[in-house]
Amino acid sequence: MTTTRTTTTGTTTATARTVLISGASVAGPALAYWLRRHGFAPTVVERAEAVREGGYAVDFRGEALDVLDRMGLLERIRELDTEMGDAAMVDAEGCQYATLPAVIFAGDLEVLKGDLTRMLYEATRDDVEYVFGDSIASLTEDEHGVEVTFERGTPRRFDLVVGADGLHSRTRALAFGPEEQFVRHLGIYTAIFSLDNYLGLENTGRLYAAPGKAANIFTARANTEARAAFHLAAEHLEYDRHDRVGQQRIIAERFADDGWEIPRLLHEMAQAPDFFFDANAQVEMDSWSRGRVVLLGDAGYCAGPTSGRGTSQALIGAYVLAGELAASGGDHTTAFAAYEREMRGYVSEHQSVGREGAERFFMPAPTQEILDMLAAQAPENTRTTPIRLRDYAAPALHEPAAGAAVMGGA
Ligand SMILES: Cc1cc2nc3c(=O)[nH]c(=O)nc-3n(C[C@H](O)[C@H](O)[C@H](O)COP(=O)(O)OP(=O)(O)OC[C@H]3O[C@@H](n4cnc5c(N)ncnc54)[C@H](O)[C@@H]3O)c2cc1C
Repeated sequence: MTTTRTTTTGTTTATARTVLISGASVAGPALAYWLRRHGFAPTVVERAEAVREGGYAVDFRGEALDVLDRMGLLERIRELDTEMGDAAMVDAEGCQYATLPAVIFAGDLEVLKGDLTRMLYEATRDDVEYVFGDSIASLTEDEHGVEVTFERGTPRRFDLVVGADGLHSRTRALAFGPEEQFVRHLGIYTAIFSLDNYLGLENTGRLYAAPGKAANIFTARANTEARAAFHLAAEHLEYDRHDRVGQQRIIAERFADDGWEIPRLLHEMAQAPDFFFDANAQVEMDSWSRGRVVLLGDAGYCAGPTSGRGTSQALIGAYVLAGELAASGGDHTTAFAAYEREMRGYVSEHQSVGREGAERFFMPAPTQEILDMLAAQAPENTRTTPIRLRDYAAPALHEPAAGAAVMGGA
């Protein structure tokens, strides 16, 4: 376990709160950022040994860009834009039969998820305590706080605990119950990995589809690398989540007879430096909080990759949750209810988009005419109802918050 950096010390008041956040991807560091600005003392625990690098590309839509702007990060994130261009849709012989306009699949701005995580981590690491290589093991709540034990570190006590630990959230399992109660599979499994840009593509991708399966390759990091993905339709697959070879075998068997670049991609997958495999799924919960524990981002309301809204939800959820905690003077019962009131409609709409996207995922490829029509209407036709972002009046970092003081490490 490595601990990096402890918070600045200062005066303590009744409104100050120690908050343990599980997960240092998008939602966790974004929440830590806003909590610090509001005068809380967040600690982030992340199971991985370090910030996760690379990964697939995620896009931002609408008000998420406003949140990044309020964090002073918009210009930096624009510098990380993948600048993805239109992509070619190819058949089994590699012949292009349509062009998919980038405006349809890359949102308002697209970056590699690892770049986003690193940027959020770097924006917070001087003011927030990060604990890498550990995980919450148990939560015991009483009237005044939560006793937390860890898999590796010594037990600690916090005022509040936030689960920002993704689709398979440990925090959710401990506080709310087993995953099967809340996770709804969307009928698609996806594998993603990094590889050389061996096709020599320039700011573009190639997409291949066959009944019940699809694959693609896109450039990354100014065309010096690429990311490839395999998708397959399946209701339920039995596999060990920690067995990479077993997961790759599932993909290899399904794509064994496919043409185009599939044999090469299967070969690249077997030796890739990274590998992600999971079901596309949503998280549906009647309530996102229980006592002093609250869920944020995918852990509480994953909309699924087919929604293209998960990153935006994580960023906006973090902004709203921290803001409501500040607005309520640290009264978590009031704050958690307000957080849910502000976010519910926004999330429900995205979850509908995610389900519709999953239903269309393996449909026969649309004609160029339809694609061009969709592109002409974008981005308007990909917009959902905007969320009204309250102004929670957070002082800038390194300025003491009015009415809420800064505490030392929890
Ligand atoms: C293939 C794919 C494509 C996607 N494309 C897009 C897109 O184009 N646009 C978009 O907006 N969204 C997209 N998403 C969704 C987006 O990635 C997520 O919605 C977003 O990352 C959610 O952020 P999060 O911080 O809530 O959770 P996550 O990013 O899942 O992070 C959870 C973190 O918690 C950590 N963790 C897990 N368990 C523990 C534990 N026990 N203890 C401590 N830490 C733990 C993990 O290591 C991780 O760092 C895509 C998702 C996938 C899978």
